[in-house]
Amino acid sequence: MEIVSTIAQVRELVREARQGGKKIGFVPTMGALHKGHASLIEAARGECEFVVVSIFVNPTQFGAGEDFEKYPQTLDADSEICEKLGVSLIFSPSAKEMYPSEQLAWVEVEKLTEGLCGACRPGHFKGVATVCAKLFNIVRPDKAYFGQKDAQQAAVIKRMVADLNMPLEIVVCPTVREADGLAMSSRNRYLSDKERKDAACLYKSLEKCREMIEGGERKTERILSEMRKVLGLARGIKVEYVSIVDADTLEGVGGVGGRILAAVAVRIGSTRLIDNIIVDISAD
Ligand code: AMP
Repeated sequence: MEIVSTIAQVRELVREARQGGKKIGFVPTMGALHKGHASLIEAARGECEFVVVSIFVNPTQFGAGEDFEKYPQTLDADSEICEKLGVSLIFSPSAKEMYPSEQLAWVEVEKLTEGLCGACRPGHFKGVATVCAKLFNIVRPDKAYFGQKDAQQAAVIKRMVADLNMPLEIVVCPTVREADGLAMSSRNRYLSDKERKDAACLYKSLEKCREMIEGGERKTERILSEMRKVLGLARGIKVEYVSIVDADTLEGVGGVGGRILAAVAVRIGSTRLIDNIIVDISAD
């Protein structure tokens, strides 16, 4: 496994691999790797002979007052994980390497970025789409792997790739969870013991939603109200949003039908956590 920090090195090593007939898989991350990231790497390894993992805490997707400065950086541990999982190349650039001068060209994906996290974090998805476009142009993968955990991000990237005719396939992998249902996240390490216990209520609220839909409930307002109650049981949680939207368009729905995405975002202390599930009743 090689670890490189320049765009020129990545281009050279990927070019060699491609010339050797290898399929290129790509897993973009911000590091502080956990089992969620590992599942994406394993999926990539299953389909591609040469797997590139980027580790880059992208400044342009953080807003003022967010956790950019304190985002965990654990390159040694991350490298060990990648090595064990059979990663071929880690790309860990500096901000200067990725943004050598003022960035004037940006990618904006409309509509899909209006609600959910897009409403709470203005500019976030512009930063995400732009850095992914840059990384795709640097690595030029055949396939790139994203987590369902960040459902809106996956939808935005898929749409960017489709609308801009980018020559790669986006693969979305299931959310990996702790034993109590909490979605694995690099930000979980910010939580105190008490906060960590409280954090289980995110998934509990989503299970409540699934339970109600499976029980025949179709009115989103009723479901959302029960979900809020579950979140309210843990004191110290501030709900940012609880939403039920169409899983493909991410637009609000009055009633449950087809494939819906139930999504929650909360603050526990100073930590922001998100989670979601898809419930599909299109066969009913
Ligand atoms: P991040 O390092 O948080 O930017 O995440 C990098 C990639 O890992 C994104 O595509 C995330 O959606 C994905 N990811 C993060 N947490 C999980 C998880 N618990 N299960 C599956 N994928 C995840």
